[in-house]
Amino acid sequence: MSLGSSFLEQVNRAFDHAAGFTDHDPTLLANIRACKNLFYTSFPIKRDDGRIEVMHAWRAEHSHHKLPTKGGIRYAETVDAEEVQALAALMTYKCALVDVPFGGAKGGIRLNAKRYSVGELERITRRMVFELVRKNFMGPGLDVPAPDVGTGPREMAWIADTYTQLRPGELDALGCVTAKPVSAGGIRGRVEATGRGVFFGVREICSVKEDMKALGMSPGLAGKRVVLQGLGNVGYHAAQFFQRAGAVLVGLSESEGAIACDKGLDLEAVMAHRKERGSILDFPGATSLARREEALELECDILIPAALERQITAENAPRLRTKMVVEAANGPTTVEADEILAARGIMVIPDSYINAGGVTVSYFEWVKNLSHVRFGRMQKRFEQGAYTRLLEAVEGVTGRRFTPEEVERVTHGASEEDLVNSGLEETMIGAYHPIREVWKQLGGKEIMRTAAMIVAIDKVALSYEQLGIFP
Ligand code: NAD
Repeated sequence: MSLGSSFLEQVNRAFDHAAGFTDHDPTLLANIRACKNLFYTSFPIKRDDGRIEVMHAWRAEHSHHKLPTKGGIRYAETVDAEEVQALAALMTYKCALVDVPFGGAKGGIRLNAKRYSVGELERITRRMVFELVRKNFMGPGLDVPAPDVGTGPREMAWIADTYTQLRPGELDALGCVTAKPVSAGGIRGRVEATGRGVFFGVREICSVKEDMKALGMSPGLAGKRVVLQGLGNVGYHAAQFFQRAGAVLVGLSESEGAIACDKGLDLEAVMAHRKERGSILDFPGATSLARREEALELECDILIPAALERQITAENAPRLRTKMVVEAANGPTTVEADEILAARGIMVIPDSYINAGGVTVSYFEWVKNLSHVRFGRMQKRFEQGAYTRLLEAVEGVTGRRFTPEEVERVTHGASEEDLVNSGLEETMIGAYHPIREVWKQLGGKEIMRTAAMIVAIDKVALSYEQLGIFP
């Protein structure tokens, strides 16, 4: 069985288990579970040395209950039809949980990005867009990609540029892809959004005294010992926010190996070391671990897998020494590991909720692209003026002069970044409590993944039920 097919099976098993707690019509449930469209293409690419290579690419659109569909594009050697379907299904449930009005999708090209030059990656990306557009698998109202493993703002800029060339005069063309560089129609705060969302979510979870007590932890993030796997887009930014909040990074793992330090690792110093040496290993003051997977078994309060799927399995789950697993990556815990962790009283915060910050801010970017105006542009100065006049009136009545710092703090009008971050914070906090409520109703016997899936299924089901097609 390939890595991909088993991942799809895991997602579907989680769906079936959660669906059993709902009273939706079985046909409706089968409809929600099924992937709606699957696109495969292969195309030849000329390498820099003149050789021709055949590339394989997929795009899965899991649900059309809301349009467009939305989900990342991954460049990795594991990509296949099953993997994109599993990830697309997760996107449907994720968007539903955070009330982002999209269906789920995911795509990818089977390649190791490190083996290709920038020019080759650009040719591959542009050709993939051509194929997607030709088959109506891309467009601001159809299907909107974003980054995932192995892709980032650079690839998104190539995608947007190719799409706009193919669709001359299409006014909303920039909404065809998200996480673009700001200069190419992106939005401030998107790059760090998933990591920031992970932080907002965990901060909220750790603020619930009753749940922390059950885990034997005090509320709050300060002093919490954190181990993190994968220092890419999601992992690096999550680590940054946790460190700023006073958490202690006691272990970090990357593809080349892992390091640990009881007193805490300075993230920026580790990143600088990696840039200079090409590896996190041999970081001064830290212990280098022989196998990168060993980091997952370090003693900590919060373990954050932020690299790839299927990292916590029935094999290593019994050896984990954490109180909480935070699924910043998609699908890092297998169903078998879920059962072991639940039996051991380890709380698992499911991917479908905790890494939804990226798609949330992607939604804000898409809205910005469709409205053709930067958030905050119309009201920032106006708000500043109104608050300044208000302060002046208070000064007039009280006879007290405010300091320049007080004036700045109170009169500051919201910029695009302020609005994005506050919208993300509101989303992550607001989405957690309905999941927790269902989890509590399940009576402590079920894991939080089941509760999140029930909430997601109910929301998708409602969209279909409103159509009157299903009983
Ligand atoms: P990325 O490519 O930027 O980072 C992944 C990092 O993990 C890389 O630095 C890589 O070297 C490292 N890595 C790979 N294998 C490893 C291993 N065995 N042990 C330790 N480190 C390893 O990718 P990303 O965008 O940060 O995505 C990471 C995960 O988060 C994926 O599961 C992805 O689907 C999920 N995710 C990403 C986003 C997003 O906005 N980028 C949003 C939601 C979920």
